[in-house]
Amino acid sequence: MRMALYADIIIDISIEKLDRTFQYRIPEELSESVFPGVPVMIPFGKGDRKIQGYVISVSETPAIDENRIKDIASVCPVSAENGAEEQLLKTAFWMKNHYGGTLSQSLKVVFPVKKSVREKKHFNIVPLLSPEELKSAAAAFGEKHAAARERVLSALSESGEIEASILMDKLSVSKKTLDFLSEKGYLRLESVRDYRNPGFVKGKAKDVRTLSGEQQKVLEAFRHDYDMGLKETYLIRGITGSGKTLVYIEIIDHVVKQGRQAIMLIPEIALTFQTVMRFHERFGNRVSYMHSRLSKGERYDQYERARTGEIDVMIGPRSALFTPFNNLGVIIIDEEHEGSYKAENMPKYHARETAKKRCELSGAALVLGSATPSVDSEYRARRGEYRFFSLDSRPGGGSLANVSVIDLREELMRGNRSMFSGRLKALMEDRLNKNEQTMIFLNRRGYTGFVSCRKCGNVIKCPHCNVSLTSHKDGFMTCHYCGYREKAVNTCPSCGSKYIGGMRAGTEQLEEQTSKLFPGARILRMDADTTKNKGDYDRILSGFKDHNADILIGTQMIVKGHDFPLVTLVGIIAADMSLYAGDFRAAERTFDLLTQAAGRAGRGERTGEVVIQTYSPENYSVEAAAKQDYNSFYEHEIMYRELMDYPPVSHMLKVLTEGKDEEKVKAEAGHLADFVKIDYSVLSGEKKERAVIGPAPDIPSKLKDIYRYAFYVRDRDYERLVDIREKLEKDRRYEMRYDTMVTYDFDPVR
Ligand code: ADP
Ligand code: ZN
Ligand code: ZN
Repeated sequence: MRMALYADIIIDISIEKLDRTFQYRIPEELSESVFPGVPVMIPFGKGDRKIQGYVISVSETPAIDENRIKDIASVCPVSAENGAEEQLLKTAFWMKNHYGGTLSQSLKVVFPVKKSVREKKHFNIVPLLSPEELKSAAAAFGEKHAAARERVLSALSESGEIEASILMDKLSVSKKTLDFLSEKGYLRLESVRDYRNPGFVKGKAKDVRTLSGEQQKVLEAFRHDYDMGLKETYLIRGITGSGKTLVYIEIIDHVVKQGRQAIMLIPEIALTFQTVMRFHERFGNRVSYMHSRLSKGERYDQYERARTGEIDVMIGPRSALFTPFNNLGVIIIDEEHEGSYKAENMPKYHARETAKKRCELSGAALVLGSATPSVDSEYRARRGEYRFFSLDSRPGGGSLANVSVIDLREELMRGNRSMFSGRLKALMEDRLNKNEQTMIFLNRRGYTGFVSCRKCGNVIKCPHCNVSLTSHKDGFMTCHYCGYREKAVNTCPSCGSKYIGGMRAGTEQLEEQTSKLFPGARILRMDADTTKNKGDYDRILSGFKDHNADILIGTQMIVKGHDFPLVTLVGIIAADMSLYAGDFRAAERTFDLLTQAAGRAGRGERTGEVVIQTYSPENYSVEAAAKQDYNSFYEHEIMYRELMDYPPVSHMLKVLTEGKDEEKVKAEAGHLADFVKIDYSVLSGEKKERAVIGPAPDIPSKLKDIYRYAFYVRDRDYERLVDIREKLEKDRRYEMRYDTMVTYDFDPVR
C-alpha cells in the first residue's frame, strides 16, 4: 500500500521568480524513490518542457484540483546513499526561515550552479626526479633568481605528487612555469580525469609527532565523545603555533578512519602552503581544496568528487560548508572569529550557525578554533554550551614577540608630527641595516571618519549608543545606529585643544613618508588600489617573500596568515583607526587585528618586535593585545556588551532599506521601524528606547547611486527577532512595496 501520492516540488533554482512549490503526482513506479530532497524531472509550462525540480515534501491529499495535477516524469540519478541532498535541502529551508529572503536565494547558496560547459581538466604534478635532485635543482634556479621555478621544485621535493591547481594557487606560479619545468624534464603533468587512479596517493607522512599534553587532552575528549555518539561543539582557544592544525588533522583522521567525512573551513587567505602540505601528507588525494581561482565548473567538479566518494576531506572558505558529503562526521572552523564567515548577500548567513545546523542534521561534531575566539563563541563556551579547551604553549618552539605601545599624544607634545614615532623609526633603521624585513600596518578596516583629539586622545561618541560619531561634509557628526546628530566641534570638549578632527592617514601618504624617511629602502605597498587586478595580490606577497623589498606597507590584508621568516618588526601606525569604527564590534576587531599583527613578527628563528602606536594606550583592547591576554580583553568586552545590551548578550537585527529614491528609502525605513515599535510599545523607559534604534543613514549612506537606511532591533530573544523579520517581509509582500529593497542581517558583524 502506498502512502504518499503527491509531491510538492520547487522548480530549478535558476528561475528566480518561481519562489513557490508546485504539486505533482507521484507515479506508482516511482513511489519508492521520491522523498524530500530528491531531484526530479517534471513537465512544466505550456509545452510541458521537462525541467528539474526538488521534492520539498510529500502528502496524501491534493492541494488543488486533482485533474490539473501532472505526473513526475522521472527521478534524477543520484549516488546510492543520497543523504547529502536531503540534508542540504533542509539546511536551505532552515536558512530561509532563519535569515529571510527567498527559498531560491537559499537554494542557490546550498546547491552549486550546474555548469553545462564541461569543466577544465584537473592536473596532478608528478615529479620526475628524486627529492634530493629536486632540491639541488631548486637551489640552482634560486641562484639565477628564477624564484617561481625555485618555489615549485622545492615544494615538490617535499610534497611528491600533488594537484597542480593548489600548488599554482598557493605558490603564486603560472601554468607557464609548470610547462617550462615539464619541457625540461623535471616533472610531468598528468590529467586526473584520464588516469583516474582509484588508489590512494599519499604524501610522505612526516608530521607524525608526539602530541603535547594539551593537544592530547583535546583529542582524547573529542574521541571519547565521538565514539560514544555524542556530537558536541568544541571551542579550542590556542595561541598561534600552539598546534591547533595538528589537532584538527588528528580529529579528521579519527573521523575518516570510521568511514565518515570532514569539512574544514579556513579563510582562504589564512590557508598557507605549509598547511596544505600537512593535509596532503596525511590524506593524500583524499583531500581537496576550494579556492577562488577555481572556475564555476571546477567548483562543481569538486562537489561531485565529494558526492561520489572520491574524497573524504574538503578544505575551503565559507562555501565549502555545503560540500555534499553523504556521511559527514565533523565540521572544523578554523579562525572562527573571522568576519568572512558571514555572508554579505541574502541570505546573510553565518557559517558558524549554519554549520551547527548541518552538524545536527548529519549527526556530526563541530570544532571551532582560534587564537582570539569571537566574543560570541567565548560567551557560549563560558556558559557551558560548548566544550572548551585551551592550548597555551608552543610545542614546536618559538617565542612570542616583544610588544611595545607608543603613546602618540606624547610624540605630539615632543613636536613629532610625522606618522612614525621615534622608536618605530629607530627600529626600522636597525632592520634596514641588518637586512631584515619590516611590515607597516595601517588599519583602516571599518574606518568611518571618527573625530578624535590628538592631544588628549578623546573621541566623540554617541550619548545613546556608546559608539563613535562619524563626521560628515555638512558639518555635522552623526551616529549610524540611532541617527543622533550634533554640530562638528573645533576644539576638544575635554581638553580645549584645537588638535581635533578626523584621522587622515592613508597608505599612499604613508608610503610617501616612508620613502622620504628611508631613501634607500625598497618599499612595497598593498591596499585596495594596488590590488585591483587579478594576480596583483600574489605578486606583491611573493615579491616580499622573495626579499625583493625591505618594507611592506599595507592595510589589514597583509596581516593574515603569511609566513615571512625575515620579518622581525611589525609597526602599527594608529591602532585607533579600527578602535573607533562606529559599531559595537570595533574593540573586538581591534584586539584581533593587533594580536594577529603581533603574531607576524618573529615567525622565524629570530624574536620579533612589535610597535603599536596609539592615542589610546589605556584602552583595554590595546592593553590586552600588547600583553596577548585574551581573558582580560574578554572580561572587559563582555561587560560593555552587557551594559549596552549588544550581542552576544542580546541579539540584534539590522533592517537595511535600499533604493534609488532617497525619500522613498527613508519613508520605507521609517514605516518599517514604526511597525516594529508597536511590538515594543508595552515596554517603558530605557528598555523601550533600546529595542528599536534608528532609522539612520547606513555606512556608506549611498553606494553606486543607491541610498541606504538602516534601523536595528534589539532583543534577548532571538526567535522574537525572527518573527519580526517574518512580519516585515509579509507586510511588504502584502502591500507590494517593491520600489525599495529590504535585507535583514542578524547579529551583524560589520
Ligand atoms: P597553529 O595551527 O596553532 O598555529 P600548528 O599546528 O601550525 O599551530 O603548529 C605550529 C608548529 O608547531 C608547526 O610547525 C607544527 O609542526 C609544530 N608542532 C605542532 N604540534 C607539535 C608537537 N606536538 N610536537 C612538536 N611540534 C609540533
Ligand atoms: Zn583633547
Ligand atoms: Zn546613537
